[in-house]
Amino acid sequence: MKVEFYGHVRQYQNIQAEIDANLKAVLASGQYVMGPMLKRLEAELAAYHGTRYAVGVGNGTDAIWLALMALGIGPGDEVITHPNTFFATAEAIWIAGATAVFVDCCPKTKCICPEAVGAAITPKTKAIVPVHLYGQCADMIALKRIADQHKLWLIEDNAQAIGAHGKGFKIGELSDAATTSFIIQKNLGTFGDGGALVTNNAELDARVRKLRNHGSNQRNVHSYGFNSRLDDLHAGVLSAKLKHIDEYNDQRRQWAARYTAGLAGCRTLDLPVELPGYRHVFHLYVIETKKPELRDGLVEHLVAAGVDAKTHYSIAIHQQAGYPWGKEARAVGSLANAEANAASCVSLPMFPELTADEVDYVIEKVKEWDQAHAADGSDQPGVARRGKTCASCS
Ligand SMILES: *Cc1c(COP(=O)(O)O)cnc(C)c1O
Repeated sequence: MKVEFYGHVRQYQNIQAEIDANLKAVLASGQYVMGPMLKRLEAELAAYHGTRYAVGVGNGTDAIWLALMALGIGPGDEVITHPNTFFATAEAIWIAGATAVFVDCCPKTKCICPEAVGAAITPKTKAIVPVHLYGQCADMIALKRIADQHKLWLIEDNAQAIGAHGKGFKIGELSDAATTSFIIQKNLGTFGDGGALVTNNAELDARVRKLRNHGSNQRNVHSYGFNSRLDDLHAGVLSAKLKHIDEYNDQRRQWAARYTAGLAGCRTLDLPVELPGYRHVFHLYVIETKKPELRDGLVEHLVAAGVDAKTHYSIAIHQQAGYPWGKEARAVGSLANAEANAASCVSLPMFPELTADEVDYVIEKVKEWDQAHAADGSDQPGVARRGKTCASCS
């Protein structure tokens, strides 16, 4: 059997009439950039998040640096994030001209460790950018407490967790802005690039609106700016899919529960953890080999069996060749948990349109590998979960 990693073609086939109707409406309107479909999507996104504002931009990376820049963050300022995320989180900090400060993640959730953030704050620190990694929220309550105490901005990189929530908080509720990406592989994806940010801050909303459109909100009147707009055709696709996002995330959660039940007996692996009271939306279902040196073998075993397994992300940002490319960056404290995550992670196929047969086939292939390795001592506690837990993940 072949099991793909992404299911966006199936998703298109399932709701083709709804997507096509929106695309036709945009084509017939003659307004393709900053038109009525974008306005409509922005209103729908704000309503979905329960925030006052939503702004569509060119992609998820731009959403982060536009937010930072609109808040006045730039050269000489430090922005704290963690290195086991998609590269773009740090890239955005560098595009804004700021210094990326890397701290460790929690060993269980892989999200930024609030205790490590607290230890990294200097007089130059201006913002914290937590990532809701793999679809589970970082501990925004602890991060908000730190941000308030030190007067820091808080920008959620929500590229992977639209529709998730934490215990007692919503995305966009405790931060200055939450940014997202609409590239096709994300939980809400279009047929190309796109991004947005949501915020309750009127000034931030107004500044990003100008920055994304050549510094202009009035014809011929400009201040410093860029071109980073979300096209109306993409807005039409996203408006159609947004109506289904809760149902899509519920389906992801069901497949995740099936994986977790099926793999519970595996002795060589650690499975993803959903914290009590959180809604994890499983952008990715990431398991870890207890022994990092066995990770590549598991991926090869799955790929040979037709299962398109991947790794997210097997090289932490500070471990990339040439780091930091002349950009300002530093690490505070040990990054051992982030490095263990990079060395041992394996992502199994995860999308709403999977079938039970496909999920069961993946489970069977993972178990086959686990059984072959449990016998050789690979079930000893490994590095992946060895790190010190904190109040957020214990
Ligand atoms: C996808 C992603 C981004 C960047 O989104 P683009 O739309 O590709 O620019 C940023 N951060 C995280 C965590 C992501 O997963």
